[in-house]
Amino acid sequence: MIAQKMVKYVEGSSVTRAMFEEGKKLAAKYGALNVYDFSLGNPSTPPPASVKQAILDIINEVNPGRLHGYMNNSGHEDVREAIAQSLNKKHDTSFSQKNIIMTVGAAGGLNVILKSITDPGDEIIAFAPYFGEYNNYVANFDGNVVVIPPSIPSFQPDIQAFEEKITVKTKAVIINTPNNPTGVVYSEETIKQIAQVLYNKQEEYGTQIYLLSDEPYRELVYDGIEVPYITKYYKNTIVCYSYSKSLSLPGERIGYLVIPDEADDFDNLICAANVATRILGFVNAPSIMQLAIARCLDDTTDTTVYDTNRLLLYNKLSSIGFECIKPDGAFYLWVKTPCADDVEFAGKAKEFNLLLVPGSSFMCKGYVRIAYCVDTDMIKRSFTAFEKLAAYYSLKQHRNED
Ligand code: PLP
Repeated sequence: MIAQKMVKYVEGSSVTRAMFEEGKKLAAKYGALNVYDFSLGNPSTPPPASVKQAILDIINEVNPGRLHGYMNNSGHEDVREAIAQSLNKKHDTSFSQKNIIMTVGAAGGLNVILKSITDPGDEIIAFAPYFGEYNNYVANFDGNVVVIPPSIPSFQPDIQAFEEKITVKTKAVIINTPNNPTGVVYSEETIKQIAQVLYNKQEEYGTQIYLLSDEPYRELVYDGIEVPYITKYYKNTIVCYSYSKSLSLPGERIGYLVIPDEADDFDNLICAANVATRILGFVNAPSIMQLAIARCLDDTTDTTVYDTNRLLLYNKLSSIGFECIKPDGAFYLWVKTPCADDVEFAGKAKEFNLLLVPGSSFMCKGYVRIAYCVDTDMIKRSFTAFEKLAAYYSLKQHRNED
């Protein structure tokens, strides 16, 4: 018999599976070309050629002991040093290998750091809408997620609501910029305000509050927008980086944590993260991928396709009456649903073979997420279906009446 705690996760996973099966059924019925699956955040662009070359070279060049053996739980020292120096060059920071812990993607990094800092009953703040897995990661360590309601329509964090929700039990705050699901990049002003609130509250309560910056989309930005490097604004920042999206390697499970020297309880934090990596069963991040990414630190996947898709979808959907948040980053378009019930709206969209994710999955009703990390041709083919959906909700008419 499975654990009581697992029952709801199993039920949840069958919902996801049902959605996947539904997509397959639609494809069998209408033909794959007539089904428009915008549900998954799986990168559609291949990794840069340098990644393949690096893997081949490493397999040929590196001795088996180093390539395949156990290592320090934090990862290969020289890889960590290379990452630290690359960050220093890009962001004018002063990290070294001791600040970097290699992880099994951002998901692994978040679990490692949450295990390192969370006591049962501790509160972890997240700004809605957010990646729903945070709820599960925090529950792994018996913490409680405290949700800050969205600030509409900017979807920058609501600083006043944030300040009001911090308590003596607040252990950490998770931010994710560029954001999944909104595509919003938090402004420098927002980051400064978050930092100021945290400094004030730490002083007021005599506590330590860590800011966990979940950054799988850092490199996916458009129109030259800058994403502030968070450690420069708040000393208790811990960066959870991933190569899943920036190098299109989600299946390879590789990322890292940055724990700056200035973070409170630095020595213990590093030891705890090292031990957490081991006892969560990761032991260490995949060796070949550590060595490979160290040779590709200046590379990113080609984001021009995402940019093309972004503008195509945003312009089209806006022109037919949908209210969309123009994304500055990531590969998601966040769209207001014309009816209050986003689950009902996603159900209606499915009738037109459009697979969208309801905002409720991100703790924000009344919106849907459209993942545009897909074939550009599929986007073009989907326009008729979106037009029918808009017509069903009389969108143009509704707009004209406004
Ligand atoms: N955080 C956010 C906001 C994500 O969107 C994702 C994946 O989509 C993750 C974390 C997990 O990323 P990884 O594949 O690096 O574990």
